Amino acid sequence: MRVRNKPWADDLIAENPEAIVLDAAAHRGHWQDRFKQQQPLQVEIGTGKGQFLIGMAKAHPEINFVGIELQKSVLAAALKTSLPEALDNLQWVLADGDGVETFFEPGEVDQLYLNFSDPWPKTRHEKRRLTYKTFLASYQAVLRDNGKIQFKTDNRHLFEYSLMSMTAFGLQLTEVSLDLHADIAASDGKLENIETEYEQKFSAKGQPIYRLVVEMPD
Ligand code: SAM
Repeated sequence: MRVRNKPWADDLIAENPEAIVLDAAAHRGHWQDRFKQQQPLQVEIGTGKGQFLIGMAKAHPEINFVGIELQKSVLAAALKTSLPEALDNLQWVLADGDGVETFFEPGEVDQLYLNFSDPWPKTRHEKRRLTYKTFLASYQAVLRDNGKIQFKTDNRHLFEYSLMSMTAFGLQLTEVSLDLHADIAASDGKLENIETEYEQKFSAKGQPIYRLVVEMPD
């Protein structure tokens, strides 16, 4: 996701310290203090402009959400959109998801979302993919037993890679869809899906959306 530099981003972030965290590691083990209610914690890495997590926070007031994004201008756009909604179950974090195990204590996170992660197609960049084994190890370090990772993408190669990487790591595959929107249409409203910005963009072009869910072993 490329965005132009936003001259207002620094001021907006500085003016809203209750909604955005710049020192994620300082909150390790105490994330619930950032929210009005103590309730399950779900985290999206690579949240972009926040469309998915804002939708989730509105649909699920019984869950606390944290959206991690490394580009300041992108996250500032998420913050700008979320502020008028006054969602007390949503926090933004400006950080590289690479450090996730330093941000959360073991078991502090109930569920993780990876949506339309950058594919990094070149083999020499494999380690940057958010489903590479070192990332999976850091997710395992923060997720509770039986915690889940939900992954959506339009990119078939990244999807195949992630299936292999996650199963080789020992994660248990619990759901797979090779055409999420067709499966939703056939589910009579039983499948919940909040669309991300990229998901809308790619599905409007007729591309199928791939989705999988894996579970941490006990
Ligand atoms: N999830 C959004 C969606 O589906 O619309 C955005 C998808 S965009 C292709 C990927 C986003 O992940 C970008 O905003 C990028 O800056 C962010 N990102 C990539 N690697 C990251 C990392 N290691 N930590 C945090 N964010 C990352």
